[in-house]
Amino acid sequence: MSSLSETTDPAPAAEQVASWRRAEAVVPRGVSSGHRVGWQQVFVRTKGAYIWDQEGRQYVDYLNAWGPIVLGHSDERVNEAVLKAANTCDLTGVGPQAGEAELAERICEVMPSADKVAFCTSGTDATMHAVHIARAATGRLKVLKFHGSYHGWNDHVAVGSSRKDLGPDTPLNTPNGGGLHPAVVDDVVVVEWNDADGLRAAFAEHGAQLAAAFTEGYVHSFGCVPAEPGFLELLRELCTQHGVVMVMDEIKTGFRAAIGGYQSICGVTPDLTAFGKAVANGYSLAGLAGIDSLMGHLGAYSKTEATIDGTYNASPYALAAANKTLEIMASDDIFTTLYARGEQMRAGIADAIAETGAPATVTGLGSEWAIYFRPELPKNFRESLECDAEMYGRYHASLLSQGVLEPAFPTGDRRLNAATTEADVATTIECVRVALRAAIS
Ligand code: PLP
Repeated sequence: MSSLSETTDPAPAAEQVASWRRAEAVVPRGVSSGHRVGWQQVFVRTKGAYIWDQEGRQYVDYLNAWGPIVLGHSDERVNEAVLKAANTCDLTGVGPQAGEAELAERICEVMPSADKVAFCTSGTDATMHAVHIARAATGRLKVLKFHGSYHGWNDHVAVGSSRKDLGPDTPLNTPNGGGLHPAVVDDVVVVEWNDADGLRAAFAEHGAQLAAAFTEGYVHSFGCVPAEPGFLELLRELCTQHGVVMVMDEIKTGFRAAIGGYQSICGVTPDLTAFGKAVANGYSLAGLAGIDSLMGHLGAYSKTEATIDGTYNASPYALAAANKTLEIMASDDIFTTLYARGEQMRAGIADAIAETGAPATVTGLGSEWAIYFRPELPKNFRESLECDAEMYGRYHASLLSQGVLEPAFPTGDRRLNAATTEADVATTIECVRVALRAAIS
């Protein structure tokens, strides 16, 4: 990683302003995904661990598009596979698509919950299908989820995870935004993460009406917050006892925490798994994996079974990207690299926190980490929001000015990709030292 001053080749900042204005004129707020608002930068080039803005500034990227980029940006091995696939047999709309069985076989081999796999294009699709399968299989309507966990924008899971307007009296099952059907909250049970008594009580009250219980195996929706010992096991036990479909949302952890997902680390096997992001190193592919009896509901057109349909589901180019990504993961020491760099980063940040006396904590798993400007690590969503947002704002602005790209909000999780070198991490830790001093100034 070079320092900012070496790499800056500034075109006038006005160019970026003009790009935003142009986009804002024809795209709502200039973006097609809400999280992209609030930046000045317009990024125009990516490679490996780095990303360049329109002014020619180089940043080391720890956003990695919120997860998909795991091998490195613009990976030529993946891109060549995609090009070959697109030039050989593109979408046909008929039968199994080129590369579909191969990818499903690869996933069934590594992911404990996968007897069968079906593909779609986004995490939002995958969690929607999980709800449909669970309802079709159980004949019940309600969904349980954890407070703060984000599972996409389907009405029944887009509840209880908005960071905005969360006061002490806000009901846990508040819809995440306008336009979501307000009546769904009657069918959504939201429990605080790591609240074992609350979970038992929720199952005691609603167990017989619950179709599905959604969980992240390791929470990244508000940083990095693991389940306390026994919590996932308790959820598994309660789901089995009450005939509820346990859905693990591995959209962030799948193919990043481990090739077989977090379930292969924690030893708790869900009935269904939603995955996406890192599976295809940046190409739009997501899916559902699960036990045969549940996955068998998909694909039928009937009043009693769920279906899956999508023009772009299992597009051969996205499948090619995923097949190549998983081939590389299986043969290279990607996870050793991701874990070593992640450990180096967390240890370096912890040292910098101790040295500067900043009231902050750092934690994480593998390639992911979170820094919270509060004295102790949070155990749940509410606690995660009790960090000092102003301090984080100064920290973030300092990092950005030093060429380090991280999430703009204080509970964001950050991640590196496998192209990030030991030297990149060492330089970043120096930038973190400066940023911590700025934060407490
Ligand atoms: N589930 C989790 C845990 C996520 O982090 C996300 C996206 O960030 C989603 C679901 C939704 O996935 P997508 O953005 O592909 O719709």
